[in-house]
Amino acid sequence: MQFNETPTTPQAGTTELPPTPVLLLEDDSSFANDLKAQLVAYGYDTMVMNSACGLAEALSRHRPAALLVDVVLDTSEHITGPEIVRAARKAGLDLPPVFFISASNDVLYRLDAVRTGGAGYFVKPFEIGPLIEALDEATHRTQAEPYRVLVVDDSEATAEIHAGILRNAGMQVTICNNPLEVPAQIHERNPELVLLDMYMPACNGDELALLLRQSPATIGLPIVFLSVEENMDRQLLALHFGGDDFLKKPIEPHQLVWSVMARIDRYRKMRALMVRDGLTGLYNHSTLMEQLGRECSRAKRQEQTVSFAMLDLDHFKSVNDTHGHAAGDRVLKSFSRLLTQRLRKTDVIGRYGGEEFAVIFPDTDPATAEDIVNGIRETFGLLTHFAPGVAFRVTFSGGIAALPPCTSPTELSARADQLLYEAKAGGRNRIVIDA
Ligand code: GH3
Ligand code: MG
Ligand code: MG
Repeated sequence: MQFNETPTTPQAGTTELPPTPVLLLEDDSSFANDLKAQLVAYGYDTMVMNSACGLAEALSRHRPAALLVDVVLDTSEHITGPEIVRAARKAGLDLPPVFFISASNDVLYRLDAVRTGGAGYFVKPFEIGPLIEALDEATHRTQAEPYRVLVVDDSEATAEIHAGILRNAGMQVTICNNPLEVPAQIHERNPELVLLDMYMPACNGDELALLLRQSPATIGLPIVFLSVEENMDRQLLALHFGGDDFLKKPIEPHQLVWSVMARIDRYRKMRALMVRDGLTGLYNHSTLMEQLGRECSRAKRQEQTVSFAMLDLDHFKSVNDTHGHAAGDRVLKSFSRLLTQRLRKTDVIGRYGGEEFAVIFPDTDPATAEDIVNGIRETFGLLTHFAPGVAFRVTFSGGIAALPPCTSPTELSARADQLLYEAKAGGRNRIVIDA
């Protein structure tokens, strides 16, 4: 992990990225070809090697952004994946992030992989989704949002030092020197962690923590004390009052960054469980509708257009009936992943229910949204899904409405639903917009 990488601002327009090269070291050629086909569909230009011979040359020629290595290679050399990786490092090769793939979930293999610096370990047979997510993260195809931190310290100089350390690590930091302004700042800035000084004139950190814990909106917000306090009893009391951690001033910059990152990562995972759909990881229905309300108010205030797309997989009941529910679930996941990859950071994607999805396009007219969705429709129609013994394809239909002319979120979603119905009636595998 790199502290100093500043996240880049998401670009406008569709995110049709060039393919990212990856190298797959796998001796089982049929598995390798299957995996390659799926990786290619997600934008990974995959080169397959069946042994480590020529690895150095392949690395320099193909310049992969990630390395996928089978753990147990059935080659005459009797060498394991982690051994190959260690040997390559020892030989001075500069390796990209390494992911291990294995038929074995044995803890000793897994430990060996961890010790070799493996960024992930996937047990065969595995769902492609989590591997793509891991690759997207490791190769920066998707950029995580910067962490948002509120630094509370009555000393401006101290606050600046801590804020500077966190900003250097790419975080978005707000400083608050007056503890009484903290609740308002939290409301305004929506931080994911509060770094709190202990001793301040108007109100102490532990009192403030207690106050925040008494409000439903901040009951789960991570609070980390940063104080010169040496007394262990006082520290424990502060945690009892609602702090999550106690760090001592002065603190090493990297220790501060790691503590904050670890807390926010956990917080994000927990929040994701509450606001996201379990199968696809997209926003659930209620979160999506909340967001639609927010985007509609914002659009009215700023006199912009917001488009809303309702997308529904075609003949999905027959996919389940023919290939089984598990295969149906895989299609839903692959569809949601494609949406996530292809839409812009600012677009809001949700699972409306069942095999129905919806996308909010802020500041976008319906014709632009239509172009984007049509691009996704064409790609999705080409993806091959697998069920035992068969390969099949699935399409989807969509309706896109906009505000204005619609005047409320309710009208907007009803209109999009109506247009979706027209797309179905018109023969499916098409998008209908409010022209
Ligand atoms: P149309 O083209 O008109 O949309 O036809 P359809 O078959 O897709 O529509 P219908 O509403 O008749 O059927 C939707 C199917 O989606 C039925 C339901 O079993 C399936 N479905 C809904 N949620 C899930 C899910 O989470 N997993 C799976 N595998 N199937 C689901
Ligand atoms: Mg359907
Ligand atoms: Mg349906």
